Amino acid sequence: MIAALDTPSAPLDLAEPGPKWGNSFARLGPGFYTELQPTPLPSPYWVGRSQALARELGLEDHWLESAEALEVLTGNRSTAGSRPLASVYSGHQFGVWAGQLGDGRAILLGDLQTPAGPQEIQIKGAGRTPYSRMGDGRAVLRSSIREFLASEAMHGLGIPTTRALCVTGSDAPVRREEIETAAVVTRTSPSFIRFGHFEHFSYSNQHDRLKTLADYVIDGFYPACREAKQPYAALLEAVSERTAHLMAAWQAIGFCHGVMNTDNMSILGLTIDYGPFQFLDAFDPGHICNHSDTQGRYAYNKQPNIAYWNLFCLGQALLPLIEDQEQALAALESYKTVFPQALEARMRDKLGLTDTQAGDRELIESTFKLLASNKVDYTIFWRRLCGFTPQSGHESVRDLFFDRESFNAWALQYSERLASVDQGLRADLMLKNNPKFVLRNHLGEEAIRAAKLKDFSGVNTLLSLLQAPFDEHPGHDSFAGFPPDWASSIEISCSS
Ligand code: AMP
Ligand code: MG
Repeated sequence: MIAALDTPSAPLDLAEPGPKWGNSFARLGPGFYTELQPTPLPSPYWVGRSQALARELGLEDHWLESAEALEVLTGNRSTAGSRPLASVYSGHQFGVWAGQLGDGRAILLGDLQTPAGPQEIQIKGAGRTPYSRMGDGRAVLRSSIREFLASEAMHGLGIPTTRALCVTGSDAPVRREEIETAAVVTRTSPSFIRFGHFEHFSYSNQHDRLKTLADYVIDGFYPACREAKQPYAALLEAVSERTAHLMAAWQAIGFCHGVMNTDNMSILGLTIDYGPFQFLDAFDPGHICNHSDTQGRYAYNKQPNIAYWNLFCLGQALLPLIEDQEQALAALESYKTVFPQALEARMRDKLGLTDTQAGDRELIESTFKLLASNKVDYTIFWRRLCGFTPQSGHESVRDLFFDRESFNAWALQYSERLASVDQGLRADLMLKNNPKFVLRNHLGEEAIRAAKLKDFSGVNTLLSLLQAPFDEHPGHDSFAGFPPDWASSIEISCSS
């Protein structure tokens, strides 16, 4: 029998079906990280898995269901080729230099070659590291479910983001404001490098490492910058552009990040580190989603300016390589042109404007103003607007407004603008840009409450809706309705 396994016809899945690790970040050298093993998560169990992402990574479906995957993706069992490490970075938190931070509870297992290029696999909540400071190195079930669902939701919406392959839970107690239980979210990204990594090596005068890091990022992710006269200024410009596109996407969908510290800004322009984030319910430009953000630094309408402030910090960190302050400032300028253009393009799509006309920016601004003065539910407004026609009575949209007069005036302006637009094309464009389903706080909260009682069906239902948020999903309208009254009393802080 044993000999039979050696024959060429032995089934392929007897070969290791799990991850085949590479270690490109580890090749940067020991100054960038500490190698260490994750602290095992006691008796882990599955909470949620993204089969869609597993397929994109080239992992076999049945492997993701295996006991081995549960152990490997939780960090409880090391596999050949993996070199687990925690990286060091610094950052500005709430506008103040915070000095050295680093992966205090995230451990990089390695990277995988996938059809979409290399993807790193990182486990968050994997135990203490040399960068944990006062923290316990753990993440709780509640925040891990939120990060898992939000990552896959943002991807479903077409917004650049790190991804999440799975969440695993454990009955091990974790102390926050109260005793909760531990969980691990296994996330993926081409790179987890943050603005704060650059700040770290710049401000600690490790300029040789700063250069090594910048070259690594350019060669791996921004190869076109290598051709520029000043590759590091070109890098700053390229990151500014990607960040501008990201901010446009957040603002258009109504996403508040909540903790836009420079250590939470991805060098690839991805949404990263989901904490007290929120998708807006009623439209309020000054909405603050993070209960710990008492000054409202990271309010919804401040996000685009904060992103620029953070890019400025990145520019300062890159100055030893760019060498010319004027050139660094010029590179940052691109943000100021790209962001408004990108936002306008996204809003035009949401309005179903298939062509560009002179007054479009004013129409967009008057739409935002009208939504704000009537505190209209942001997602429901846009989805209902997909069915708007100049001829119809558009009651379902008008019903969302208490100031009917203002709505009527706006509807007239919009109807006039639609005169030159093909109605079929418009509906199609709008239905692809105005989701029916977003991860509202109360939806996450309900799934979390059930998950705490070991019922993970809510997590899985939300995952399937949010991975295809523009589809109708008959029978699931209750997930696309107004938030219940209790939703406004949900308080989400930095505690995670
Ligand atoms: P965050 O606000 O989640 O982006 O975290 C800011 C910093 O605190 C990062 O360096 C994290 O690694 C670290 N950190 C957050 N929570 C913990 C924790 N429970 N244990 C250790 N480090 C943590
Ligand atoms: Mg962070």
